[in-house]
Amino acid sequence: MLGNWSEKRGWNFDSRYANRWEFDIDPDSEDLEGLHLRVVVYLEEPFVIKTGENQYEGFCIDLLNEMTKVLKFNYTIIEVQDGTYGIEDESGRWNGIIGALQRHEADLSLSAVTITYSRAEVVDFTLPFMHLGISILLARTSEETDKGSLWTFLEPLSLTVWISLLISYCIVSYSMHILAKFSPYEWYNLERIDERDFENIKNQKNQFTILNSFWFTMGSLMQQGSDVIPRAAATRLIAVVWWMFTQIIISSYTAQLAAFLTVERMSTPIESTQDLANQQKIRYGVLKSGSTMDFFRESKIPMYERMWSVMESSSPGVFVNSSREGIARVKSGGYAYMMESSMLEYYLERDCDLQSIGGLLDSKGYGIALPKGSPLRDILSRTVLQLQERTILEALKNKWWRDRREGPSCGPPPAEKTTNSKPQNIFGIFYVLLTGLIVAFLLACGEYCIESRHEAFRLKLTIVGKFIDWYRGNSNDTKVRSKMRNMQLDTAGQEIGIFNNKIE
Ligand code: ASP
Repeated sequence: MLGNWSEKRGWNFDSRYANRWEFDIDPDSEDLEGLHLRVVVYLEEPFVIKTGENQYEGFCIDLLNEMTKVLKFNYTIIEVQDGTYGIEDESGRWNGIIGALQRHEADLSLSAVTITYSRAEVVDFTLPFMHLGISILLARTSEETDKGSLWTFLEPLSLTVWISLLISYCIVSYSMHILAKFSPYEWYNLERIDERDFENIKNQKNQFTILNSFWFTMGSLMQQGSDVIPRAAATRLIAVVWWMFTQIIISSYTAQLAAFLTVERMSTPIESTQDLANQQKIRYGVLKSGSTMDFFRESKIPMYERMWSVMESSSPGVFVNSSREGIARVKSGGYAYMMESSMLEYYLERDCDLQSIGGLLDSKGYGIALPKGSPLRDILSRTVLQLQERTILEALKNKWWRDRREGPSCGPPPAEKTTNSKPQNIFGIFYVLLTGLIVAFLLACGEYCIESRHEAFRLKLTIVGKFIDWYRGNSNDTKVRSKMRNMQLDTAGQEIGIFNNKIE
């Protein structure tokens, strides 16, 4: 409300909205020497950054200082009270910087204030000092970079897990082979000619040959089983821990693969505003009470109208109080932030997890905003042009956008998939397997001691035995082994019974 009217007093305007200039300027004057201006600012990196009490820096502060060099005025900086750029509410009142200028709380504003038609009705703008457009900011996702690979089936488990699995497979198979040889209960009679003839290696059979051992573990890993069955406690223990291990690995692989395929199917690559508008998975929003919000609110283009109604009805809200908040939401995932390309470029230079999508939705500029009818407008516009011609604006942009960047600029997106870290949680099962192997070795030692009567010929088949043989210069063992035939058990139970009876 600008004022009121009564029959008695007639028009009575609110003094805050009346044109009142605390300074007189000579229209022919080349500068503003002696003037002290109140400059209202909005804190936004890299335009205006607060560094301390009444201390500010940034692109706009440098620009203001360049202008003071030309125009020789002094200034005081005032921060905008409600922390917004300004938007018109239903009653026609403006908030933020625009409202502050309208109420003559400041003489000018030098911030990232966008020149718009509706704002230009209530405040004045100089010529633009920077050009920009609305753009979409999204988090960079690694799955976009390498989707659809031929080797997707390998991706559910990391390389480390695959290598560990291969090593475990070899160790377990070989341990099975060694322990089966070592353990007396893995041996049974091939020919029952003389029941007391245990000492004769020709009559003894062990089904865990090296090939059979590898076949047994592979059968378990593939969840298919095999017709080789362990009989001794030590080999059975290895079998149990290996089955447990394969169970965990296979279920983890299956779950990861399913998740992978689902993610790949669900990931709707967003490459344009149209893609963003046509999906519901990623929510999108804008800065509260700014020109970007106004752009969507006032747009008559069906797609933007639809986007506005989606944004308005979103719960929880998609409007943010600052660009920093918007970027934090983008990085936490599932959110696209529509911001001005000038700020977007600044953040893209610094954060490699961010990317911009599509082109610019519109084209506009930032200008110095002044109360309507301000006598400063022409002289400030001329100075902006002058600074532009002297490439000072360009130099300032380079200073704040590129030179002040810490660290190198962003390269290509990180190749490592985030999902790669998940399978490493199953490493615990490798420890279970290792413990099982150790216990099985101890068990085999126990079994060996119990059956020490048969040590003489069994020992010959182990590495220790071979070593002793070699040490003694005895190579008979090799000949004996080569005579052994590979036989498989049909019903193991009966054989064990006979064998055990013999031992007892
Ligand atoms: N610079 C904009 C403004 O003036 C801020 C935005 O809406 O992105 O309101």
